[in-house]
Amino acid sequence: MRQDFIQQERYKLILFVMPKASPQMDNTKLSTTADLKTVFYRESKRYTSKGTGLIPALLIVATYFYFAPILCKRYWPVVLSYTIERGWSACQLTVVVTLLWHYLWHFVATMYYYAIYHLEHPFFERDKISKEPWPWQENREEWMKTLKKSFIWVGVNSFIVLPISIVVASAVNNFEIPYAIDAESIPDRGGFVVGIILEVMGEDLILHFVHKWMHHPLVYPYVHKMHHEYIQSVGFAAHYSHPIEYVLISVIPSGLVSLLLGRHLHITTMLMHNLAREFETQDGHCGYEFSWSPFRLMPFSAGGAYHEFHHAFVNCNYSSFLTFWDTLLGHNDEFNRRYLGGKEIEKKEE
Ligand SMILES: [Zn+2]
Ligand SMILES: [Zn+2]
Repeated sequence: MRQDFIQQERYKLILFVMPKASPQMDNTKLSTTADLKTVFYRESKRYTSKGTGLIPALLIVATYFYFAPILCKRYWPVVLSYTIERGWSACQLTVVVTLLWHYLWHFVATMYYYAIYHLEHPFFERDKISKEPWPWQENREEWMKTLKKSFIWVGVNSFIVLPISIVVASAVNNFEIPYAIDAESIPDRGGFVVGIILEVMGEDLILHFVHKWMHHPLVYPYVHKMHHEYIQSVGFAAHYSHPIEYVLISVIPSGLVSLLLGRHLHITTMLMHNLAREFETQDGHCGYEFSWSPFRLMPFSAGGAYHEFHHAFVNCNYSSFLTFWDTLLGHNDEFNRRYLGGKEIEKKEE
């Protein structure tokens, strides 16, 4: 595919901030395929390469899992009584809360990364994945055009496609809420953790295969290519996609998991998962591989470099949060080869 060729050519200039292969480790004995030795070596390197970044990452995760269930138990009953007093139906409540929650964290995550890009502080820039300048440094005029187009489509997806999708899904379900919303069913910490893990793993499974399908030659040029216009991605671009893709990748996988979990899932767990997912997807697109990223503590998790590799080389690394579907199906062999070799791509390509 011509597009692939262009992207690979351009990416010769890019250096990943990946950990170098250990000199003690004989990489020639490592396979790039999914044998256990390779997989666990890569996992161990992923953790050790974080260095002291592991400490803030652990603190963020501990804070999230400690406080989220407490805040849910404390504030969800307040939201419930406020809306019941005003005669809202359960469906109205879930639609409004889900949308407002999404907008809130989308805005916060976007501003968080905007501040980092704006500062261009060496503390952050040392973790930049690409050696190329940011697109706004390269050509400001072109960047403003890209940004304007991105704002329009992210706005369409967020303010038109998402509300319609939620209302249509509710109508299909006869305006009944599939998951629990009552105050008594708010899970304790154990239930919350299990709910989040099931949401993450379920969504990741569906998303992997939908994303791979998006790369089918009959689909890619008409739908998914738009998202791949960003070769060097930024956080905001996580939601820059064709509306069909937005529904199939951003709405249906997590919605389907919530539907399948039914009453075993509480709306507060779903909302907390949405919060984490918003930051995770922007983290995957932000162009940095921050050692303190809390999302990359999960075993076999992907990362900024992992997804940036996908944007550059296109037909590989389809997974979003976790890597094991890619590993099992051999979709990240090339990424692993470069990762395990610890080579600079520009040298490798010479
Ligand atoms: Zn992407
Ligand atoms: Zn893709």
